[in-house]
This record gives sequence, C-alpha cells and structure tokens, in this order.
Amino acid sequence: ATPISVTTSAGRGAQAGVLIRNAEALERMASVDTLIVDKTGTLTEGRPRLTEVLAADGLDRDRVLSAAAALEMGSEHPLAEAILDGAREKGIQSDKVSDFEAITGKGVTGKLAGVEISLGNSALMRDLGVDISALADQVDDLRESGNTVMLLGMGGKLAGCVAVTDPVKATTEIAIRTLHEQGLKIIMATGDNRKTAKAVAEKLGIDQVEADCLPEDKKALIEKLRADGKRVAMAGDGVNDAPALAAADVGIAMGTGADVAVESAGMTLLGGDLEGIVRARKVAKATVRNIR
Ligand code: ADP
Ligand code: MG
Repeated sequence: ATPISVTTSAGRGAQAGVLIRNAEALERMASVDTLIVDKTGTLTEGRPRLTEVLAADGLDRDRVLSAAAALEMGSEHPLAEAILDGAREKGIQSDKVSDFEAITGKGVTGKLAGVEISLGNSALMRDLGVDISALADQVDDLRESGNTVMLLGMGGKLAGCVAVTDPVKATTEIAIRTLHEQGLKIIMATGDNRKTAKAVAEKLGIDQVEADCLPEDKKALIEKLRADGKRVAMAGDGVNDAPALAAADVGIAMGTGADVAVESAGMTLLGGDLEGIVRARKVAKATVRNIR
C-alpha cells in the first residue's frame, strides 16, 4: 500500500464518519464476506427502558423493583441504568446492598438485610439453584416480543422479574438491507437470550443468531468462521466485544461504546451508526482500486 492513497482514504473515511486506525483494516474491509454484529448498543440504541415488573406469588411488584434497583446501584451495565431510571420514575426507594458482585454476561448478586439476592439471566438462576418455573410462561412471552428479562432471586427463591426493551437504532434497518444487497452474510452474536435475540433478528432479516454468548464465545465464533475461509468483520460496542473485535479480519467499534472496544478495533464508526460500514466499504473499495 502506498502511504499517499492510504492518507487520502483515511481522510475520506473521516468524512464518511469512520475513523480508520490501520490501513490494513481498511484494505481488508473491501473483501469482507461475513459481518458479525453485537445486538445491544450496536443494532439497538443501547439505552433500554423498563417495560414490565412481575412478582412471584405473595410478593408485590414495588418490592421486586426496589430489590432489583438496590442491586443495580453497583453496576455500570446499560441494563442497570434502565432499572434505576424505572424505579426513580415510580418513586421507589431502595436500601443498600452489601457483598455486591457483578458476574460478566450473567448478572449481579449481593445481600439485602442479610438475605442473598440476585438479578440476571436464566444461566445465573441455574448457577444459584433458583427455580424459575413459576414465571416461565410469562417470561417467555416477554422475550418473544423482544424484551430482555432479568430474573430476581431472593433467599434462593424466585421473587419476580423485570423486563426492559432497547429500541433498534433508526439507521439499522437500512444499513442491514444495504449490506445484504452487497452480498454480506450477517450474523448476530449477543449475550442476551435466544428468544429476545431472535425477535430482534427476525425483524431486521438477519441471517443467523448466536445467543447467550459470553465474550469468549463471540471470539470463538469468529475464529471458526476465519478457519473456514470466511473474511470476517465484527461490529460491537462493549467490553464484552473486545476479544471478538481483536480476532476479526476487521474489528469495527461503535464510537459511542466502551474505550476498550475502540482500542481493540481497526476502525470506529463515529456516530455509532451502522450505515458507516456501508460507507467504509465504499472507501475501502476505492482505496484498493487506487493502490493496484
Ligand atoms: P449483551 O451482549 O447483550 O450486551 P451481556 O453479555 O452484557 O449482554 O449480558 C448478557 C445477559 O446477562 C444480559 O442480557 C442480562 O440478562 C444479564 N446481565 C448482565 N449484566 C447484568 C446486570 N448488571 N443486571 C442484570 N442482568 C445482567
Ligand atoms: Mg453491546
């Protein structure tokens, strides 16, 4: 690659809302055939809102939300913010949790007035031996309509659940359609559960869904595709996407996301807007023509 054409295209990249960290990433972008996308914060706004609170028999919903909010005070996850905002809007107070712990990709745990409490996905409840069957049908319905549902355990028993919805970004649908027209296969890889992930993916016409992914699962997916001869770009915004971004032929960070995501990626979409990928491919193709 000649430095001149690379400099020019880096400039053009910036105009297209894409920050290019290395010239190789831009060159490789021209020949990518598979795009892996994270869901939360990449396809969606990453600003979920509280939509539902359910209590198990004998408990009240305000108590469920209060305990959930108590746990989330110690968390920096976007889901935590949704729950805290929801509680605040309803004027619900929370006591302080002790022994707080965040479990990546699963949820949060702590103690409230001496009682062990936990909030997170089905895997967390399984790990803690909390039986979730009492609310299973309602949880399924919420997930099938695109909600992310977090279960609340109290003293080893299911106390209730809270549901949040994260709206799809306005530009996502058209970006996915255009990338499809360019012949890319698009795979969603998310830490969220399968039902919620599928509801969002089907609306967008995404080709394949990998749900319940831990950070290392996203990375392994990319390594497998590359071993199969695919040329893989990965777009993500979170700390949990960093290993996958580094493992891809082209890592694409959302400029609105975590610093480690940006540092692990070859390029950054400044507005966090997926249409930047379409523009980056145009710049990449023009650059490759220029060099050859
Ligand atoms: P994503 O890939 O969607 O950004 P994560 O890998 O961060 O998701 O988390 C996966 C799942 O673990 C979430 O959908 C949620 O159910 C649960 N979880 C993670 N962090 C928290 C938290 N702070 N509070 C409640 N649940 C959480
Ligand atoms: Mg994310």
